[in-house]
Amino acid sequence: MTKTILPGGTLGVLGSGQLGRMFAIAARRMGYRVHVLSPETDTPTGQVADVEITASYDDLDAVARFAEQVDVVTFEFENVPLATVDVVNQKVPVRPAGRVLHTTQHRLREKTFLRDHGFPVANFHAIGEAADLDAVPDQLLPGVLKTAAWGYDGKGQVKVANRDELNTAWKDELKQEAILEQLVPFEKEFSVVAARGMDGYVECFTPIENIHVNHILDVSVSPGRLSEKATAEAMEIAKAVLTELDVVGVLCVEFFLAPGDTLLINELAPRPHNSGHLTIDAHVTCQFEQQIRTICGLPLGSTRQLRPAAMINLLGNVWEPGPPDWAAACSNPDVKLHLYGKHEPRIGRKMGHMTVTAESVDAAIESAYAAKSRLIGK
Ligand code: AMP
Repeated sequence: MTKTILPGGTLGVLGSGQLGRMFAIAARRMGYRVHVLSPETDTPTGQVADVEITASYDDLDAVARFAEQVDVVTFEFENVPLATVDVVNQKVPVRPAGRVLHTTQHRLREKTFLRDHGFPVANFHAIGEAADLDAVPDQLLPGVLKTAAWGYDGKGQVKVANRDELNTAWKDELKQEAILEQLVPFEKEFSVVAARGMDGYVECFTPIENIHVNHILDVSVSPGRLSEKATAEAMEIAKAVLTELDVVGVLCVEFFLAPGDTLLINELAPRPHNSGHLTIDAHVTCQFEQQIRTICGLPLGSTRQLRPAAMINLLGNVWEPGPPDWAAACSNPDVKLHLYGKHEPRIGRKMGHMTVTAESVDAAIESAYAAKSRLIGK
């Protein structure tokens, strides 16, 4: 029997960004203590955690000491080295488990896992060395060339129109293990955030529609504007993915909606996701509370939505015209402001977000864009 970790227990988190911060806020609200380990200090998570440990993930002695002081460990980004997870796992459970991380931190392993288990993904081809370029089938062009490891928010990926562009992109730029995917003429992108408990029970939030700008999420909308069939199918697929991967924790399945209501999985994130931030203000239980409940062995919370919602990301770009006008942004009483405590507003850096709830999805979207315009004085 696995022990339930009750409020009063101590939760460890590897990684110290905004996802860890919102996890820590939810955990402390429920009466847990939070320890965070990352190579930085005064971090978004550290600012709200009980204990912030500054150490490299490769400092396995520090990692072992961190693990000795907590009851369970989770992570808030998927590029934590597996050796780190293994050291933790000798002391306390890591949830989701290291093998989930192993599959999802590498695009090729992830896509192969999905394809081999019968999940819908775009056609792809592995490129490990220059010789593999010649074996790329014609149907994969135009395509998207992506690094197998360390890719997020469109980093490490490039669109290639034909074989010449593919060869140049790989030989001159990438020169590392990669994957070429068929370019999907998608109509929409959306995600399903799901949680799976230790008993194997899965709860999904309804699909959230995502609008990207420059490959970075700009706006998320819930409920996503999808057909009933696509909604039901996506939630079934998400449930099956968490079950096949034997996840204990939260995992987000990112989808493309292709013509003809066809669903394709783009990628998996074995943790709460930017698109799920709106669950904090719009749902009975948020994605971070679900993460806590799953890793602690508590029953899952209700994913019922209270009001339609739109979330708009605030990147460092918002500071460019001058200091943001927070009061103006909040002049709509339905705007909920979330800032992550990052000191330097760099271009493209996620600094915070705003969620607006309203009577309808369309009204929520309009109010979210309006709040951002007021924020930057437009
Ligand atoms: P990723 O880092 O794989 O999530 O990709 C970032 C964004 O690039 C996605 O959200 C899509 O907008 C776009 N993208 C990625 N893969 C494809 C594809 N195979 N076809 C079309 N667009 C893609």
